[in-house]
Amino acid sequence: MKILNGRIRSKREHILRITFLIITSILLIGVLPLCKIKLKDKSDDELLKTAFKICENNLILDSHIDWPDKHLQFPEDISMRTTKGDFDLVRAKIGGLNAALSVAYIKSDLDVNESRVLVDSIIELINNYTIIYPDKFAQAKNPNDIKENFKNNLLSLPLCLENGLPVGNDISYLKNLKDRGVVYITLNHDKTNQISDSNFDENRKWNGLSPFGLEVIKEMNRLGIMIDISHSTDSTVFQSLRYSEAPIIASHSSCCHFTPGLERNLSDTLIKAIANKNGVIMVNLCSMFLDSTCMKNCGYLLNWYHSNGIDMDSEEGIEFALKYGETHQIKSNSEQVVNHIEHIIKIAGIDYVGIGSDYDGMGPSQPIDLPDVSSYPTIVFELLKRGYSENDIKKILSGNFLRVWNQIIEIAGS
Ligand SMILES: [Zn+2]
Repeated sequence: MKILNGRIRSKREHILRITFLIITSILLIGVLPLCKIKLKDKSDDELLKTAFKICENNLILDSHIDWPDKHLQFPEDISMRTTKGDFDLVRAKIGGLNAALSVAYIKSDLDVNESRVLVDSIIELINNYTIIYPDKFAQAKNPNDIKENFKNNLLSLPLCLENGLPVGNDISYLKNLKDRGVVYITLNHDKTNQISDSNFDENRKWNGLSPFGLEVIKEMNRLGIMIDISHSTDSTVFQSLRYSEAPIIASHSSCCHFTPGLERNLSDTLIKAIANKNGVIMVNLCSMFLDSTCMKNCGYLLNWYHSNGIDMDSEEGIEFALKYGETHQIKSNSEQVVNHIEHIIKIAGIDYVGIGSDYDGMGPSQPIDLPDVSSYPTIVFELLKRGYSENDIKKILSGNFLRVWNQIIEIAGS
């Protein structure tokens, strides 16, 4: 009897379950198209308004802006609208930018002493802005500072070092940098240095990291300084992943998938490996790194600058680029930027991607519809068009980078 009752109950449950499934399916079949219709029904105007709202209400962090270098060449007050460059407070506010990781860019041909003098002057430059305008700018040494500054409507200017050259062979200099607020170090730039091999240099002296580079990785782990592998050779990245206890970041790198053969971007294998170690890839907006045609044409421009000894930011350099750009594609667009973001999402997941624009470091190579730091809503608009939720977009705008940064600090403290 008990068994019979059990069977009867099972049958009832079975019938109920099937009925529930049928009703749910009917509801879903009815509702899903409605959702799609709802999304499709949103006009571009409405999506753009939503994009601006998302940028206004959420924390936006850009992990690589070269404004200090631009400032050294063309000193202008960044608290006001500047005439040159891609970054200032006015445009940052329009774009909703809250944390501009400010790069101390070190040219590879300097010696250690010269590079340290440059580091000192850039740190002073950034600090001066936070001292002169305490109601506009603030330092930030960790994610908590960034969040606090966001609440107080202050633009965070965390300091980063692009090129480990100033470290010389003195490991204690890393602590000095950390104490002065440096939050990440790009191991090298366009030349192989004492730490590691550069992907722009045919001289691959170390086949990855040097013996001193291994010490640097360990010390950066201990101090909680983020290891940035943008500009590194594939071997350098693999070895950094192997020897670092903490996740690593690519502060301004895009996907090789769209630019085959360009080691400056990251292969799918490296993207997956960085994500597997819980790191993050911050997509570079420089047109040259976004598609093959721009890569080829911008490559021609760079060669021209190099062989004629002309700075790409000089008037002559800009004029030549404009003229050349009339007949050759040198500008990409927001759709291609989001293609890179989506590619990383497709192969690694939504938790491993962000934006490291390289504004003020890309000469005339900004995408046509993303000219400067007022442009983040245009990227968000494209993400909305492709159906990404606000929650996903928040991860891309800052959540992913801050998660990784927190973990690096945690590992240093443990
Ligand atoms: Zn760079």
